[in-house]
Amino acid sequence: MRRKLLNRMKYQIIIIPFLPALGMALFPFILVKTNALKNNYQVILHEKIHLTQQGEMLILPFYIVYLFHYLINLIRFKNHTKAYLNIVFEKEAYAMDKYPDYLQQRRFWAWREFLAPNSSKRF
Ligand SMILES: [Zn+2]
Repeated sequence: MRRKLLNRMKYQIIIIPFLPALGMALFPFILVKTNALKNNYQVILHEKIHLTQQGEMLILPFYIVYLFHYLINLIRFKNHTKAYLNIVFEKEAYAMDKYPDYLQQRRFWAWREFLAPNSSKRF
């Protein structure tokens, strides 16, 4: 029931040319850098995974955990890219943004399965 509710979640795509990334999820919006990216299924699915994560964590706690994970990873790896890619929410989104029906099958708080080191390689 809860999962169905999240998958029907409405979102709006906004184009932000100066965005520092191709896409970004800022609940309840998906921000993209160019108009063409609106039709990039992988980018949109990646951001929809983040919107789902944000919704199921009641939004603000998501950003706190996201930032906390990034800072811990930055201390651990001393490298921005590695720190970013190892944020648990990014691990789930990058691992699963190639599977069009992922959000229909995804379990509640599925990102927890990506907490283990090298967990993105399990799928
Ligand atoms: Zn992401």
